[in-house]
Parts: sequence; C-alpha cells; structure tokens
Amino acid sequence: MPAGPQNSFQERKQRLRASFIEQLPDRLRQARTLLAALTTSERQDEPLTQLHLIFHTLKGSGASFGFNAINASAKEAEQTLREVLDGDRHLSSHLLADLRRHVQTLEELELSVDQAMAQDGHPCFNLQSQRADSSEATDANRRLIYLCDDDALLAQDLASQLSCFGYEVRPYVALEALCEAVQARPPAAIVMDIMFPEGRDAGPTTIAELNTHLDPPIPCLFMSMRDDFQARLRAVKAGGHAYCRKPVKAVEMAELLDQLTSRGATEPYHILIVDDDPDVAQFYAMVLESAGMTTRVASEPARVPAILEDFDADLVLMDLYMPKCSGPELARVLRQIPGYLGLPIIYVSSETNAQRQFKALEVGADGFLTKPIEPERLVTEVQLRAERMRTLRSLMIRDSLTGLFNHNTILQLLKVAMASCQRTQRQLCLAMIDVDHFKAVNDTHGHPTGDQVLMALGRTLRLRLRESDIVGRYGGEEFAVIMTGLEVDQAKIIMDALRESFASVNFLADGREFHCTFSGGLAAFPEYSDPSALIEAADAALYRAKHAGRNCILIAHPNTAQ
Ligand code: GH3
Ligand code: MG
Ligand code: MG
Repeated sequence: MPAGPQNSFQERKQRLRASFIEQLPDRLRQARTLLAALTTSERQDEPLTQLHLIFHTLKGSGASFGFNAINASAKEAEQTLREVLDGDRHLSSHLLADLRRHVQTLEELELSVDQAMAQDGHPCFNLQSQRADSSEATDANRRLIYLCDDDALLAQDLASQLSCFGYEVRPYVALEALCEAVQARPPAAIVMDIMFPEGRDAGPTTIAELNTHLDPPIPCLFMSMRDDFQARLRAVKAGGHAYCRKPVKAVEMAELLDQLTSRGATEPYHILIVDDDPDVAQFYAMVLESAGMTTRVASEPARVPAILEDFDADLVLMDLYMPKCSGPELARVLRQIPGYLGLPIIYVSSETNAQRQFKALEVGADGFLTKPIEPERLVTEVQLRAERMRTLRSLMIRDSLTGLFNHNTILQLLKVAMASCQRTQRQLCLAMIDVDHFKAVNDTHGHPTGDQVLMALGRTLRLRLRESDIVGRYGGEEFAVIMTGLEVDQAKIIMDALRESFASVNFLADGREFHCTFSGGLAAFPEYSDPSALIEAADAALYRAKHAGRNCILIAHPNTAQ
C-alpha cells in the first residue's frame, strides 16, 4: 500500500496521543504536589487554580484522544474544584480525600492507557476515508448532472443550456427513470422540479427517499413555479442545497452547480487555533486539516495578532481558559484592532456552566463548543461559520448580479495593485470593457435576459483569466480587468481571445438564439502612473474602439493620445 495521507494522519494522531500519555505522569505528579500544598499551606487560591487547570486540561484532552475514563474522572474533580473556587463549597478534609482518590484513579488509568492506544475507533478516521473517496472522483463524474422535470421541453431546453457551461446534463421526465439512473450511476448533483403528476411535492419526496439509500447524499438543487413557504420547506427537508424559481436562468443555475459540485476547488477555509495546550491544538488542527481546511496553531495568545497579519483567517478557534490571557481577554484585544471586529471567534472549552459560557460570549464571540467535541461536530461547526463569514464578506465587496468585485472595491484594488507594482517594478494593465449595443438586448429580449448576458460575461472573465487577475463590474454593462506582470501587447492577446470566446456564446431568449460582443480599451502602468490617469486612458481607448466599429480592443498610448 502506498504511504498516503491516511498513514501520515494515523502517525500524527498516534504521536499526539503518545505525547499526551507521556505527559500524564508529570501532570499527575504535579497534582499530587498541589494537593499536598493545599493541606499544609495557608494560601490556597494559587494551588486551587492550578489544580483546577490540570484537571480541566486532562478532562479536555482525555476526551479528545478517546480516553473516556480519564475524561470522566478528571471531570468530577474539576467540578468539585470549580465549586470550591466559586465559594460554593468548603475545602474540607473529606473533599481533599476525594480529590486524592481522583488522582489515584487517574494514576491507575495511566497504566491501562497502553491498551487504549491499541484500539483505534476514533471517529476522525471516518472523515479521512470520506475525503479519500471523494478525491478519487474523476472530472467527468463531477460534471455529470441529472435534471428531472415532467415538462419534457423545459427539461431538454435547460439541459442544453447548462451544457454550454461545461456540464454533461441528462434530462429525465419521469421520476422512476431518474431513480433508476441514480442507482445505476450516481451523478454529481441533481436538478429537480417540485411538482409532478404524482403529487405537488413529489420532487422533494423522491429525493428524500433516494437519499435514505445513499451515503453520502447527492447534492440537490430544486426548481419550481411554486414560491410558497411549504414548497421551500419541503425542499430543505429533503436536503436541497438551493432553490430556483422558474423561469430558471441557466447562468444562475450553473453558478449554483459550480458551488455544489466543486466544493473542494474553492480556497480552503483558514482556521487559527489558539490553545495553551499544544497537543490539543495540534489535535484540532489535524481534524480540521483532514476535512480539507488550512490551519495555524498558536499556543501563545500574545503571538495571535502577528499570526493574523499574514494568515488570512476565516475563523479563530479559541481555548476559553489559558493561564496568562483568557479567551475572552484575547477576543477583546482582537476586537480593538481595526479589521478584526468581524472576525468570527468560537470558544472551545469543557465549561458547561451556562452562565459562564454566556459571560464569555458577551465579549463578542460567535459560538461555544463544549468539550469533549466529536471531530465530526468540530468540522461541521467550523465549516458552517467560516462559510457564513465568507458569504458576508463577499456581499460587502461584490456585485450581487455577477459576483465580481463592485465599483468601489475594484478602485481600491487598483490602487493597491499599482502601489505594489511600483515597489516591485512590474507592469500592470487595465482593461475597460463594455458590451456592444446592450440597450438593444434589453429592448429586444427584456431586462432579465440582459442580466443573463452580464452574468455570462462576468463568468467568462472570471473563469478564463488567471488567478492573479482582478475582475470587477465597473458600472452597468462596463467591466474592469486588472492584469499584472505582463506587457500591454500580451494583455491585448488575452483580451482578444476573451472577446472572441464571448462572441461565440449562444444566448437563448424565447426560443431564439442571439449573440453579443464587447469592446475594450487597454492602458498600462507605468506609461500612465496614477490610477485616475490609467482609468481615463483605458476609457478613452474604449471610446475609440466603439467608434472603430465595436467588437475590438484598442490600446492607449500616451504619445498618440488625441
Ligand atoms: P454601446 O455599444 O455604445 O455601448 O451601446 P449600448 O447600448 O451598450 O450602451 P448604452 O450606454 O446606451 O446602454 C447601456 C444599457 O445598459 C442601458 C442600461 O439600461 C443597461 N443596463 C445597465 N445596467 C444593467 C443591468 O444591470 N441589467 C440590465 N439588463 N441592463 C443594464
Ligand atoms: Mg454598451
Ligand atoms: Mg454603456
């Protein structure tokens, strides 16, 4: 068997567990010393707090590494100490004896821990194997879509439109035929109507039924004439990921299918883990990474601001109790730094007291996960919140129709890119493009069709350009593209290729096909040295392109400018 990620995962897990076990005798010795100090010394607050921290850590790590007996015993001791620290209980000799008994139990457990090392029923292995399976899926499988609608014409039409976006779409008219096809070969996603001759909710009912036999369930997107709450609820209950109202726009549906079928292709979530216990932090990192996320670990709260500066975190997973700086204190520090006000923070702790949880959340954290936390739950909770964060962020900086950067953002990004090119002595090209005779598209086919053209253009630009190129919607039907590190002639070749490929897209309106073109103007830095001069020059070149007959790209030259 090749040494795949499964092996290194197993190794890392074993190492972390081993390190936990290695430290166990030391921790228990420390607990014994502290207990002795409690009986002899006057000052009890310090040893009580330290002892509480030891049991607290043992409880959390014990659970995380699957040592349930250690977790249970440490939990009782921690609870007792918490009550003493809160002044709810008196530190009697009876209570001290109780604590000593707990330490003894833990020492006995330590001896039997080797046995536990041998058994490997930890749930995070399921996560790993799931991922291995899905990564084996071929590209063809990822592109296979089944579409089911009792309206044969609509099914056929939508299928052919979606295939323009690179999907292999198989239309089905009957539910039964769809079910047979799914069982024979599961697709990457299903597009499903809600109402069928079998019933008003037959679509969702069929999907729910299909998914009881399928693991994992197939992502499904519903579409319907219905827009009532019941229809939407049925769709959600059947596991629907999205809901489109008819008439369906093919571009919008393609965007949704992109999200449903190529989840792994998006930038992985960045998670920062802050925990003073490096083993626990490593453990969370391992679980989250096995689910495809990127992590950084900080065991020193003081290092967090510096780490955040070059690690664009989507979310921070934070231990609640840390010796020098507690989770809520760190959260407060972060909230006072511009830019981190909206950064999602989730506490992870074995704190189960609702009031104390609530107090910690008051500082502006976004959630609370109670240890022991199952790896699956950790992954789900983190994914959910990171996803929401990404959506919110993108709503602020993106144009809602095309998903491209909006006017303000693209101006901002242009300034940043120009400053960076100035520093690194690199070239930068700005292209301004504008759809030709777009008013006529609206007038002939209606505004919604015009919107589809804009979405398709946005998509063409986004998918065809390099990762490093920046694309924005500058205004109505005008778009801006920033390309760095290339000559203006190279930029023209790229823009011309885009122009030709956009001109060949078949648009459909009322069963009729039509085509659209765009014109563009290009200007380069350092020929034009500040953002407004660059924009003005690109705009002037665009204007000339329109006058030269449209469907062409012209370059602005400082010396020949009219
Ligand atoms: P030219 O080739 O000279 O650029 O002609 P044009 O018709 O494209 O240019 P004009 O500026 O006269 O018309 C642009 C039209 O774009 C007018 C406006 O209603 C339409 N438009 C702007 N934003 C949107 C939008 O978000 N959706 C739709 N459907 N139309 C839009
Ligand atoms: Mg136009
Ligand atoms: Mg215009």
